[in-house]
Amino acid sequence: MHEKINAEKVVTGNDVDAIMQNAADAFEKYKKVIPARRACFLEKIAGEMEKLRPQLVTTANEESNLPLARLNGELTRTTNQLKLFATMITEGSWVEASIDSGNINVTPAKPDIRKMLVPVGPVVVFGASNFPFAFSTAGGDTASALASGSVVVIKAHSAHVKTSELVFNAIQNAIELVNMPTYTVQHVVADGNKIGEALVTHPYTTGVGFTGSFSGGKALVQYSNQRDIPIPVFAEMSSINPVVFYPDMLSGSTAELASTYALSITVGAGQFCTNPGILIGIKSDAFDKFLNALAKEIGKVLPQKMLHAGIYDNYSNGLAKMLQKQDVGLLSQSSVAPAEMEVAATITTIPANKFLNDKHFAEEIFGPYSMAVLCSDKEELINVLKSLKGQLTTTIMGTDRDITEYADVIEIQHSMAGRIILNNAPTGVEVCASMVHGGPYPATTDARFTSVGTTAIKRWVRPVCFQNFKDAMLPNELKNNNQLAILRLVNNNYTRDGLHF
Ligand code: NAP
Repeated sequence: MHEKINAEKVVTGNDVDAIMQNAADAFEKYKKVIPARRACFLEKIAGEMEKLRPQLVTTANEESNLPLARLNGELTRTTNQLKLFATMITEGSWVEASIDSGNINVTPAKPDIRKMLVPVGPVVVFGASNFPFAFSTAGGDTASALASGSVVVIKAHSAHVKTSELVFNAIQNAIELVNMPTYTVQHVVADGNKIGEALVTHPYTTGVGFTGSFSGGKALVQYSNQRDIPIPVFAEMSSINPVVFYPDMLSGSTAELASTYALSITVGAGQFCTNPGILIGIKSDAFDKFLNALAKEIGKVLPQKMLHAGIYDNYSNGLAKMLQKQDVGLLSQSSVAPAEMEVAATITTIPANKFLNDKHFAEEIFGPYSMAVLCSDKEELINVLKSLKGQLTTTIMGTDRDITEYADVIEIQHSMAGRIILNNAPTGVEVCASMVHGGPYPATTDARFTSVGTTAIKRWVRPVCFQNFKDAMLPNELKNNNQLAILRLVNNNYTRDGLHF
């Protein structure tokens, strides 16, 4: 019979020691659990969350102010994500097994060399405020870490602790039902600033997943750097997701474009990491017409409540400072006055030469806000793009003619973001194998990885090479017979066949 653990209310470093010791012990057992059983565990978490759906959605709604329909959709995305990882690890080829057979008939003799990905160990996941399900307790970081064979310690986000505890209960039920090690997942409720350092610097922690502010992500990286042995901190921090509206695109009807972008800027009160925070175009009557159409749409958007008081304050103060700047014009704002904790959607404008003079214009104002940057010509457009830091996304709104005429500008867009979008809005992130939700610093701390999609698992593994091992000593993924029938790179050819001697 399993011992069922409670969410830890952590106050001291000793508590963290005990938690990380439990995590390290659980890892020694969990990493040996065969993939089919790990998959069953992930599916069971999804099933247990589904059983709690009404309670989860209502609680998250009370804690986050996010609408029920959105939360229902996000919960479905979260359970589907768990099932997607279950399918992937059941199939098994994700371990990137490769075999280079030995040869004793050459001089010097060539050893038998085999490689695969293995889990790193206990991972600390910081829940995100803006996705109480999909980027929190059983969200993408946790699902990908558990799929890899790593164990997880979750630091609940203080803005939705009750939701986080309910999700943790679902995980605990799943642990019991499929008989996983008791401490495969642990849940910590504590002040992030106090406990973050203890969790990240603990010697048993091997990796960190984080979505939130630039200052928070940077603090976690600094904690990692204080360690005797630094560890990777996969932090997704800030992105303004530049959208370039190319001239020929704007020469057609812009009404639909304006309503698409008004929605993308304001959906979920703009509290998405892929929110289009900067709209760039070359000054023209057509660009003015588009911005006027957008202004009308934004005027119609009702004020919305923000996730928590801190985010409300950041938005209100950030916007107030922006509007005080001499070169910034107010293009449009929700026409209804905001109530308590609500904010008005806002679009500002700025000439590109002024934008280029002050790096603060390119900082994220997290919420339903976007700044239109008006360039005099193509050269200024290039300068604006080159001035921007790394991004999660950048969008090309252009016709075939634009794509030909502005190929050099589009080339710059290619180098700045993890996802380059053609003629869509950046909000809406598909959970699939081809997704990249990452990007050059400061969008994330490591542009080689994604936090969404199945390849998110790569953050929690390392490659290990086995040289001259006897077949019986090898992991199943690397044994001669390939009983798992996974796709392997055998002597430089991809195959599911076993090796026969
Ligand atoms: P946050 O303040 O960075 O908090 C995220 C998580 O990290 C929380 O669990 C928090 O703990 C913890 N934390 C924060 N600072 C820390 C530190 N110095 N050391 C250790 N742990 C720390 O993010 P937030 O609450 O979600 O929102 C605040 C601002 O972040 C927003 O206004 C927005 O500007 C930005 N944000 C950006 C994105 C994005 O995707 N680009 C998403 C969300 C937020 P507590 O829970 O105890 O506070």
